[in-house]
Amino acid sequence: MKLQLNDTFVNELPADEVMDNTRRQVVRACYSFVKPTKTKAPQLVHYAKEVAHLLGITEEEATSNEFLKVFSGNEILPNSTPYAMCYGGHQFGHWAGQLGDGRAINLGEVEHNNQRWAIQLKGAGETPYSRTADGLAVLRSSIREYLCSEAMHHLGVPTTRALSLMLTGDKVMRDMLYDGNPAYEKGAVVCRVAPSFLRFGSYEIFSSRGDKKTLKQLVDYTIQHFYPEITARDKEGYIQFFNAVSARTLDMVIEWQRVGFVHGVMNTDNMSILGLTIDYGPYGWLEGYDKKWTPNTTDAQHKRYQFGQQPNIALWNLLKLANAIYPLIEEAEPLEQVFNEYKVDFEKKYAQMMRSKLGLTLKEEEDSQLINQLEENLRRTETDMTIFFRNLGNFSKETILPEKDDLQFLDAVKEAFYKPDELKGEVLWFWREWMSKYVERLKRESLTDAERKLKMDTVNPKYVLRNYMAQVAIDAADKGDYSVVEELFNLLKQPYDEQPDAQKWFAKRPEWARTKVGCSMLSCSS
Ligand code: AMP
Ligand code: MG
Repeated sequence: MKLQLNDTFVNELPADEVMDNTRRQVVRACYSFVKPTKTKAPQLVHYAKEVAHLLGITEEEATSNEFLKVFSGNEILPNSTPYAMCYGGHQFGHWAGQLGDGRAINLGEVEHNNQRWAIQLKGAGETPYSRTADGLAVLRSSIREYLCSEAMHHLGVPTTRALSLMLTGDKVMRDMLYDGNPAYEKGAVVCRVAPSFLRFGSYEIFSSRGDKKTLKQLVDYTIQHFYPEITARDKEGYIQFFNAVSARTLDMVIEWQRVGFVHGVMNTDNMSILGLTIDYGPYGWLEGYDKKWTPNTTDAQHKRYQFGQQPNIALWNLLKLANAIYPLIEEAEPLEQVFNEYKVDFEKKYAQMMRSKLGLTLKEEEDSQLINQLEENLRRTETDMTIFFRNLGNFSKETILPEKDDLQFLDAVKEAFYKPDELKGEVLWFWREWMSKYVERLKRESLTDAERKLKMDTVNPKYVLRNYMAQVAIDAADKGDYSVVEELFNLLKQPYDEQPDAQKWFAKRPEWARTKVGCSMLSCSS
């Protein structure tokens, strides 16, 4: 394989002195050298051609034995020294101390077409950061990460990418429901790819230890390689850096809200410093439009990471990052200004994003009211988010709103309702109210119905990775049938296209999936 891995970037940062996998506190170092664990019988389940292409890997190479060995962690390429990164984090609102790459191992960096990519294996064995766990990953969670990160990319959401999905041939013990019933599952490794895997927690750890020297080295490194437009390495430069991270984080969260993605575990160790969606665990996709929904059963009680809270939680996480880099700035006011900007920009960007989902090009004062009322209606009647917005594109501005209980005005979107029987009385009245305002509003726009639909179809996806879809792929893969992984992978490459042959995936969640584990309920066990 031509693939050249090297460590040039990361060499600039202080490394751990010992080379072993012992679990311990790692101080004054950003990473520890570590070797992936050899696996019994690696097998390629799937690889992403497009990502291979980004790295300069040909099709022939991607199906070679060497690829299999390297991206399952069984062979280390020359000139590279794999490492696991040290980070901490706030988990569910509380400082958790040192976490680190407990089951992620960076193989090195690849430079191709003037872009550098860090290459990381997830599930390749123990590292100094594994704490009490085994450093491994199971097939079920690896399929979820592999399919979703690529689907998110094709939806236009900033995300880490996935190169390959491999079975290791080893068995991994997991208590999937945390109910005292552990069982063996198939082990797997996903190769993830991103410019960097640095997280908010990467900075917090040094700050928490009062290690300003390493903190500054890491921030300078981050600015130099990932925020090169910032030239100062002083207070001003660090404020600009924080501002840029805040803006990228906000943009990412707005995109999550646009497509109905719920991350599930927005701990600060799962927040990328580049504003990328990272660490696909118990994530989920909104089916019924419910702002209070979270798929993560570990968070079922407080619902800290529910859909509607994501923008606020991102801001809370930014506050923790600000605390972490504060020793380099030593002034609170400019940081507070960034928080204020985040709040103002959020309102603006959220309204703009929702306008685009409604096909509105003008900005009007009352739009936020129109948006709020719609969200209220969507909550009142269980309504499938993806189908509703996609089909709203078929709504005509010539629609005549009836006086009586005639449901015809809802024809364009009726498929989206889970319980159409509930569309009566007051609920129906609210919908009629909203639709009549929407018609009035559309009439003030210059686009024709057809032009508006075209525009709406570029922001309202037809296909997302519905929770049960991933589970169907997992159930088949567990039996050795990878055809659904392949089918969904291809489907989600063109989420905004009609794809008439795939109509079955443009449907409401089947009833059996409403409460099935893996479909609407997921734990952190992976
Ligand atoms: P997560 O909730 O997946 O973001 O993980 C939180 C922390 O736990 C991170 O430091 C992970 O590296 C670590 N972790 C999760 N699963 C494992 C595992 N199976 N083995 C070792 N570390 C793990
Ligand atoms: Mg994580």
